[in-house]
Amino acid sequence: RRRGGRGVRREVGVHPDGQPALMSRGRLAPTPTGYLHVGHARTFALAAARASAGTLLYRTEDLDAGRCRPEFAAAAIEDLRWLGLKWTEGPDVGGPHAPYVQSQRLPWFRDVWSQLQATGAIYPCDKSRKDVERSLTAPHAEDDAEPIFPPALRAPLGAGREAREPGPTNWRFRVPDGETITFVDALQGPQTFVAGRDFGDFLVWRKDGFPAYELAVVADDHAMGITEVVRGADLLLSTARQLLLYRALGWTAPTWAHAPLIHDADGKRLAKRTAGLSIRELSQKGKTPEEVLTAPLDQL
Ligand code: GLU
Repeated sequence: RRRGGRGVRREVGVHPDGQPALMSRGRLAPTPTGYLHVGHARTFALAAARASAGTLLYRTEDLDAGRCRPEFAAAAIEDLRWLGLKWTEGPDVGGPHAPYVQSQRLPWFRDVWSQLQATGAIYPCDKSRKDVERSLTAPHAEDDAEPIFPPALRAPLGAGREAREPGPTNWRFRVPDGETITFVDALQGPQTFVAGRDFGDFLVWRKDGFPAYELAVVADDHAMGITEVVRGADLLLSTARQLLLYRALGWTAPTWAHAPLIHDADGKRLAKRTAGLSIRELSQKGKTPEEVLTAPLDQL
């Protein structure tokens, strides 16, 4: 049967864990700000496994020019190939949706900005981080880098309707305060977030001329026909934001599978302490891909 948009065919296949699953089109979407570590390795291996009855693509998410470096982008590809992951579309192999590098996809992101702007879903915002912090009434969740944007700082309805391009200003998505956003995650089960309480008006465009993560990832997952997004559970809350973008754009959202975050022996989240645990260092120490993917952390 045919489902979803953009001519992407989803068929019932058998998932490697034995569950019947849609033949999915998945992706690996690393941000090259450093060497990938064992946590990335395991999340990406899961993404590859879940797409093994379908297709897997690779996309470099290098929009944060200040933090991303080309040598990390090249190293990520090398390290994931060393692990044995296979993708059939990506910066190193090309494919029908090239370029697979976000910094080369700005025209597409501006097009999506235009679509959002035309619906009135977003508004220009000149409030600084300081303004936001000054009017915050509650501390923000530790897991989420973005504080809840205070509704008092919102631009009035209709602001920015005349704009023809984003210009050198931030743009935010006006969230439907009080609305409950639910989705069923294939790994984490049912999820519920309330707009305006768990997250506020979020950035879609940055005044430096680049799209914010939430816009770029939705724009590309849609353009590239992704049917299942597999990524770390630290992005669950982002999924609620992204669902609002899919709705505003009139696009069919993919399904979601958020991998549990890996903790080290002291219970610290791996993302915060990765010394000695990059895929690169582990392979140089003589560890095998199998060990990197499955050994208990204290044995690596
Ligand atoms: N590029 C993002 C990151 O490395 C992940 C994006 C995603 O999987 O949605 O954190």
